[in-house]
Amino acid sequence: MKYKHALFLNPYIENTATSVMGIFPPTGLEYVATSAKGLVDKLTLIDLRYETDLCDPAKLMDFIRNEKIDIICVGIGWDRQFREICELLNLMPDGIPLVVGGYKATEEVEELFRACPKIHIVVRGEGEETIKEILEGAPLEGILGISYRAGGKIAHNAHRPLPNVNTIASPDRVLRHNVYRMKLNGINMADLTFDSVLSARGCPFTCKFCTFSLNPLGQKRVYSERSVESVVDEIGELGANIILMSDDNFFTNAKRAEAICDLIIKRRIKKRFIAQARIEIAKHPRLLDKMVKAGFKMLLLGIESPHDRILAQLNKGFDSDTIRKYFNVLKKYPIYYHGYFIYGNIGESEEEMAYISKFAKEINLDSITFQKLRIEKFSPLKDIAKKTPGYHVTDRGELYSDTYSHASLKKIGRQIKFSFYTPFQVLKIVRKFLVVRFFTFGEIVSFLAAGPSLLKSVIVREIQKKRLGNSLKRIFVSNA
Ligand code: SF4
Repeated sequence: MKYKHALFLNPYIENTATSVMGIFPPTGLEYVATSAKGLVDKLTLIDLRYETDLCDPAKLMDFIRNEKIDIICVGIGWDRQFREICELLNLMPDGIPLVVGGYKATEEVEELFRACPKIHIVVRGEGEETIKEILEGAPLEGILGISYRAGGKIAHNAHRPLPNVNTIASPDRVLRHNVYRMKLNGINMADLTFDSVLSARGCPFTCKFCTFSLNPLGQKRVYSERSVESVVDEIGELGANIILMSDDNFFTNAKRAEAICDLIIKRRIKKRFIAQARIEIAKHPRLLDKMVKAGFKMLLLGIESPHDRILAQLNKGFDSDTIRKYFNVLKKYPIYYHGYFIYGNIGESEEEMAYISKFAKEINLDSITFQKLRIEKFSPLKDIAKKTPGYHVTDRGELYSDTYSHASLKKIGRQIKFSFYTPFQVLKIVRKFLVVRFFTFGEIVSFLAAGPSLLKSVIVREIQKKRLGNSLKRIFVSNA
């Protein structure tokens, strides 16, 4: 074998005691590490969010030397901590091939080579097949999907065609050194352990703001799904009790989703599932019934905007009346609904942005997150933004205008947040978690006991204002 000991490194450093970013495993990196099995004598996967003793760069470098690691593969999937990760990469020992990949690495190929002289290869797009050829020592000029240093220049090989999802091995959880679990203030929360499963890749829709349906190279991932058996086999082997189905839309093929639910029920698998979905799932009542029986407790839904003009601009594929109609159906099911919104759209007024909170409450969303519009490299919105007077896009894809600067958009974001997350809404969220049995009463109590969490501070505030009794009455007595 060309390499003896490969290190796969998730370089993000989070305080897992307080950050929710740490509860899910680095699935993308795990996929690539798993496909490297059998091609090196030893394979080590390190997640710096958990292996905190190695967050000190000096200790990490000692580890690399002492363990005689002879190739380092780093997954860079996110925008955050980009500069810090580049600094870490620049400390890596000389003479050991340094390979980086992941979503963000693919977007920032040139920048990574510029900022990190020690990087030898950037793997672009999906890396499961590419890593095999690198580890086998294939000549770099023949490996599809990589960019690499060659004679003082950067060579970019042709894109790699996207592989069939059924040929990609699921992440081998044995490679992990830690259990992904929810913590608050450093205390493990009951028995809440997390994992994620990818049952399909790609998305057949073409929302204009979305970078999921295109990889960062602009390649469209045709929707392709794994077999029902393989998905449920994987779920059945997991130790975690909360599973995120991390497909762009787990219910793209309603028949297949139903078959997965049937098999979960048949095998008596007891998990709590979270899934990303489109609101059109409301057209499938039989599927919704089966989902509830199979343990689907939470849906993450892209609503994006309450305004028809903006929904059309984003090519979302539905309008506000359809959203209302579908939520009238969805609210009948014991499922927790989280909605995603985008604000700061082209031509959107402050009043329109602020309406997000009102609309979210009107359609009975339990919680929301909202983000300023970002215009990625291959987004068709780029042209519209360019042609619209007074709008500008930063190098990082952030849209702002002469009327709404970054600072004013941030301020509007805070207004939306505070007008949605009132103390009453927070208590409603607690109630909904109990109603859908996402958390048990004991787990909720342990959250409250864990320290100055949001819930605790809200309840304390309500008690101080002598409003707790009224709030509880409104929640538990009425159907508000
Ligand atoms: S927003 Fe969702 S539905 Fe639209 S293209 Fe992206 S993943 Fe698909």
